[in-house]
Amino acid sequence: MENASTPTHCPYCALQCGMNVTPLPQGGVEVTERPDFPVNRGALCGKGRTAAQVLSPAARLTAPLVRSRGRLVEASWTEALDRVAGQLGRTRERHGADALGVFGGGGLTNEKAYALGKFARVVLGTSQIDYNGRFCMSSAAAAGIRSFGLDRGLPFPLEDIPKTGCVVLVGSNLAETMPPALRFFSELRSNGGTLIVVDPRRTRTAEQADLHLAPRPGTDLALALGLLHVVVAEGRTDEAYVRERTTGWAEARAAAMAHWPEYVERITGVPVPQLRAAVGMFCEPEAAMVLTARGPEQQSKGTDTVGAWINLCLATGRAGRPLSGYGCLTGQGNGQGGREHGQKSDQLPGYRKLDDPDARRHVAGVWGVAPDSLPGPGRSAYELLDALGTDIRALLLMGSNPVVSAPRAAHVEERLRSLDFLAVADVVLSETAELADVVLPVTQWAEETGTTTSLEGRVLLRRRAVVPPPGVRSDLHVLGELAARLGVEKGFPDDPEEVFGELRRASAGGPADYSGITYRRLTEENGVFWPCPDHPAGTTGAAGTAGAGESGTGAAGTAGVHPGTPRLFLDRFATTDGRARFAAVNHRATAEEPDAEYPLVLTTGRVVSQYQSGAQTRRVAELNAAAPGPFVELHPRLAARIGAADGDPVAVVSRRGRAVAPARVTTAIRPDTVFMPFHWPGEGRANTLTNPALDPTSRMPEFKSCAVRVELAEPK
Ligand code: SF4
Repeated sequence: MENASTPTHCPYCALQCGMNVTPLPQGGVEVTERPDFPVNRGALCGKGRTAAQVLSPAARLTAPLVRSRGRLVEASWTEALDRVAGQLGRTRERHGADALGVFGGGGLTNEKAYALGKFARVVLGTSQIDYNGRFCMSSAAAAGIRSFGLDRGLPFPLEDIPKTGCVVLVGSNLAETMPPALRFFSELRSNGGTLIVVDPRRTRTAEQADLHLAPRPGTDLALALGLLHVVVAEGRTDEAYVRERTTGWAEARAAAMAHWPEYVERITGVPVPQLRAAVGMFCEPEAAMVLTARGPEQQSKGTDTVGAWINLCLATGRAGRPLSGYGCLTGQGNGQGGREHGQKSDQLPGYRKLDDPDARRHVAGVWGVAPDSLPGPGRSAYELLDALGTDIRALLLMGSNPVVSAPRAAHVEERLRSLDFLAVADVVLSETAELADVVLPVTQWAEETGTTTSLEGRVLLRRRAVVPPPGVRSDLHVLGELAARLGVEKGFPDDPEEVFGELRRASAGGPADYSGITYRRLTEENGVFWPCPDHPAGTTGAAGTAGAGESGTGAAGTAGVHPGTPRLFLDRFATTDGRARFAAVNHRATAEEPDAEYPLVLTTGRVVSQYQSGAQTRRVAELNAAAPGPFVELHPRLAARIGAADGDPVAVVSRRGRAVAPARVTTAIRPDTVFMPFHWPGEGRANTLTNPALDPTSRMPEFKSCAVRVELAEPK
């Protein structure tokens, strides 16, 4: 197997581009195009093209490390695992199970996310588990569940985008985050459709738009309300659809009517004629879509902001209809699957609610434990990190680097340092792993088999293509070994297909039903869209319902087998009455508005050659050369005011700290806003500045907006 070319998927973002991986006879590994995968048709961004380099032993950990006299030194697997299990066991004895924390990641495969959630609840008995996906799209998930009864990033496949009439892309910079996806939007425009981009910056994505709306960061809730006001005022509401397929319109309508276009212009800075133009472009074609990403979601009012964009779709009859709808573009490779299988603090596998008695009974039955033995919901990601060293004394962390990626990162780093014990399982010695007492080097991506779920809700099989370096073990193996040392001998196999088989049973009948999906089908069908129950479409199997609001068929359905569900909600929404619910939402300020001391708004984001905390991509020479460090994007008027020229080191200061990086002077940003990418540690760490104010529903921190001042780092 390991000398031939293996079709698999990229280790990075949620597009999960198909690629072939081939070990080379002279050593090393080659990544090549895989045109048969319909999403990217062979296209890869620079990260995907260079992905083989993260497999190089030079770039990664190949032996366990334990802390001895203050330093991390190499140790045997037995010593490292004994130390982790011993410390977790002693901490639980001394302080109780909830003194143990578990922190996962949206890059973990479905099998790993599932095993990690089970390990936390069955072996450790702790409620304190969450993952870094909470920082990504949890507001969209909460808003989707509130309005549609179900959250699946995109409820339709990407291939529908070129066939619709208009797409409003809100707070997404696809040109930097997932460039191969841009083709869907260029095809849309070639077919006569239009693209509206909402972003405070004139990004490379915004440059391709027919209309670019540039609101002040944190005001797109007001913007969506203003657009809805215009829809109503111009008589563009789809009254029949609203009557037949929704509830809650009267309250939502009243909220929108209180947001006059002129008032919205004052809040957002978007001129009234642009509001009217956007409504015309969105409402005139027969079908249209709204897609959101981190911009509207990473706010302390992210759930309501996404809810306002969903309202716009509902009022105009553009959800649950062919080629129309609302969708969220998830970010991390398994951001979607990562939140469906139990590493989220309030969720059990199959996207079941942890506080639902039926869900507890079902999953406990699969796990062979008493429902009452399962802990209840725990803290969300930032709240968990904030409790380290106080309520939580020991932490097991897998596949995450919060020292760089968490908000108020200096505080999070201090909390990590204050733990009695920190164990990190990772591929590389990340900034967080550097603080650990034990570091466990694990296999990754092409070295192991496992499933991910892409932003389309398409479950995919990543296949093992190369032999891992000696000295590394899989996360599944680590969990099994720790479980055995903590007295649970069974239930944690290290064969991913066996874990997936159990995940299928645990998810059966739940909202994210994977019970009809097998590794064989994933290989033969190039992925399967969930829900996919283990019985034919249109029937109800023993496991439970036929899937919530499912409609449409998969491309390769076989008689007697459920084909999967590429398109959701065409017949009904996944609510109890089958109707979508409007959210009655009103504009409110960000948690930290500019003032005399901190007069500007900082917003953060990504660049094409780095990925998330940069733990992998900063180790790839070509990517590092293309994006060697952070920068501060600022408008020429602001630059002139502080006396900064392009390249001068400037300091960005918030109530939480100071970050320094070279100025990048550009008219592509509003004069009242500065931008920093967040991929780097050290003095240019953008998350030193960000605000951990949380959305009350999704518990999402407000990464996208905080008050700052900017000054020359060294006076001239
Ligand atoms: Fe990988 Fe995403 Fe780039 Fe595709 S767009 S190659 S999935 S990082």
